[in-house]
Amino acid sequence: MDQIPSKILIVDDFHSNRIALEKLLQPINNIEIFQASSGDETLGLLIYNHFALILLDVNMPGMDGYEVAELISSTEAHKHTPIVMLTAHDSTTNSILKAYKSGAIDYLSKPIEPTILLNKVQQFVTLDQLQSKTEALKAERELILEVAGQGVIKLSNDGVIQFANSKSAQLTKTLSSQLVSTHFNDWFKQDNQQLPKQTDFFGYIKQQVKQYGQYQQKIYLSPANDTSFHIEITCSAQINGENAPIIVIFQDITTRVTLENKLTHLANYDPLTQLANRQYFHDQLQRALIRAKRSDNAVSLLMLDLDHFKEINDTLGHDIGDELLQAVSSRLSFVLRETDLSARLGGDEFAILLEDVSELSAEEVARKIVLNISKPFVIQEKEIFVETSIGVACSIGGKADKTTLLKWADIALYEAKSAGRNRTQLFLPAMSEQREQQAYIQQQLRNIVEDEALEVHYQPQFSVKLNCFTGVEALVRWPASGYGNKPISPAVFIPIAEQSHIIHEIGAQVLMQSCQLLSQWQNEPDKKHLTVSVNLSAKQINSPTFLDTLESILAEYKFPMALLILEVTETAILNHLDSAIRIINTIKSLGVKLALDDFGTGYSSLNYLQKLPFDIIKIDQCFVQQVDQCHKTSALVKAVMNIATACNIEVVAEGVETKNQLEHMTILGGDKIQGYYYSKPLNIQDLLGFLSPSQLKKTNHQQITFS
Ligand code: C2E
Ligand code: CA
Ligand code: CA
Repeated sequence: MDQIPSKILIVDDFHSNRIALEKLLQPINNIEIFQASSGDETLGLLIYNHFALILLDVNMPGMDGYEVAELISSTEAHKHTPIVMLTAHDSTTNSILKAYKSGAIDYLSKPIEPTILLNKVQQFVTLDQLQSKTEALKAERELILEVAGQGVIKLSNDGVIQFANSKSAQLTKTLSSQLVSTHFNDWFKQDNQQLPKQTDFFGYIKQQVKQYGQYQQKIYLSPANDTSFHIEITCSAQINGENAPIIVIFQDITTRVTLENKLTHLANYDPLTQLANRQYFHDQLQRALIRAKRSDNAVSLLMLDLDHFKEINDTLGHDIGDELLQAVSSRLSFVLRETDLSARLGGDEFAILLEDVSELSAEEVARKIVLNISKPFVIQEKEIFVETSIGVACSIGGKADKTTLLKWADIALYEAKSAGRNRTQLFLPAMSEQREQQAYIQQQLRNIVEDEALEVHYQPQFSVKLNCFTGVEALVRWPASGYGNKPISPAVFIPIAEQSHIIHEIGAQVLMQSCQLLSQWQNEPDKKHLTVSVNLSAKQINSPTFLDTLESILAEYKFPMALLILEVTETAILNHLDSAIRIINTIKSLGVKLALDDFGTGYSSLNYLQKLPFDIIKIDQCFVQQVDQCHKTSALVKAVMNIATACNIEVVAEGVETKNQLEHMTILGGDKIQGYYYSKPLNIQDLLGFLSPSQLKKTNHQQITFS
């Protein structure tokens, strides 16, 4: 750092004296010499300059040296400026004393001895330069403190603020002078939920600093009492300084905290609904279960899924779908308490975590949600109805872990949906076993379908009038070996297949084998006329790709279309009547026949008969098996027969097991009979053996006589 020259003022009324003195001082480095010829001139120079030394002549006209010295040393700005008086050669003790009294710190008698003058002046110059160096350093340090942009305070050992820079005053919204002498605890409050609340925050910091040398924490500034204003403090003290002051540096971290909070929110919450996302929900569930382990409390989990949301999304558009999800989230928040956590796990899947809530109370909450969501939503001026199914599971004392609890709630949800939707279902342990069994079946089915190992059996149908077999119903069969211990009934595995895409594969494979059989029979004159009935699942009928699949299979085989009969149940049509009507009409237009299966077991079989062009109805076995025992059933069957005849619809009686049943059905006007009485479903070899030419023309069964 370049040293600024020290200013020296020579005051003498004689020009020649001033010149001589200036000359004498020449050997001294880094000085700047000023001259004044009078007291007035001196005072004038003092206005703009600060001198390292004033060499002041005593004898001057006007104001003499004493008066000038007195004036200088009485001013605040110059009272420390050293004055050396230049006295006459005959100076008396009195005049020397007078010089000191008027403020001089030394004197030199004329004529002046150059060495003495040089030495003296040099000393004052050195002193001045040291002082200005110190001041420059101090100013620099202060500048650093100010520009650091951080509040800096120095605390005494008992927490009293001894120094505060201007930034700390700005941050505490006060003046530096008001901070000094107040206590640290008056301004700084800790903000760490993990630590116990400290009444003596300074005491805590002091102990931490003593132990670790430094302490850093996010805190609040208390007078502002504004919890949205965050600061971070770093406190340190001189190591080993038992009573050393503590330096606290602090800065405004509100922007950082806001940004951090934003990022945390983005990472943990679903942007569409502002509910927790899957990851965050799982974390919180995990934490809740750990807490429950300690407290032995219950943690309940609700899994929620909107019924038929996909259709709303597909038909009304994603915008409405999104708004609906938001509206559903609001309703959830409305029903729930602030301490409950709701999350959107994805799509239309929601989850709710209820801590310290028993399963019965959780079920109650779930019922409230179902009720609330079933009320109409108005979105973009459209009234929309949605329903929801909720699975409820509970872990007491954290005994069921996160994965288990999620699985249980999922199983319960699945049960709620299978039971008809718009309802809640509490998880029951038996469901778990059932679910495992289902998962096993589903996996096995996948393998079977992939290996194309599905078997199809055929159950012959007999015409009483023609006295011969007229067709078969294709019934899918679990392979006899290779997949599990024993074959599983289609009544069990078809509903499981219907939960996934597998049903379409199964449907296609059965249809293909049936069509192959039909086309093969076209080459056998005695079997040419036989029909094959194939069951269609509700899922197939309602699939947009079904017609394509059907047409491409039909294109592969050659046989009269009327020999193929597709059987559908009421439930397949129930929920999607319009699209079912469309598809069924298209099937009809291909020439394929249609049968209404399980007739009489649904709600409005007659209604469907009227709306859809069925060729055949299959009276369900539950009627057939009662027909010989119950008068009412018999009357019902008779009525169905009459309606069918009137509408030109054929009737097949299913599940005829006994001669008695057969006779009753025949008396009531039944012709086509399917049932164990004639034959169980047979594999293809047995069927071909069974349908011998005689069976096809005339049965060996005794002629039925009517009484
Ligand atoms: P379904 O369509 O009503 O088929 C008739 C069921 O009654 C068959 O059971 C058949 O074996 C049985 N059955 C026939 N005669 C008698 C009898 O005299 N007494 C008794 N007790 N039962 C008799 P199966 O083969 O176990 O099939 C059960 C259900 O599984 C079928 O009922 C059908 O809904 C479904 N299914 C079977 N195969 C297929 C298929 O290929 N596709 C689809 N989607 N469903 C199928
Ligand atoms: Ca059937
Ligand atoms: Ca049936």
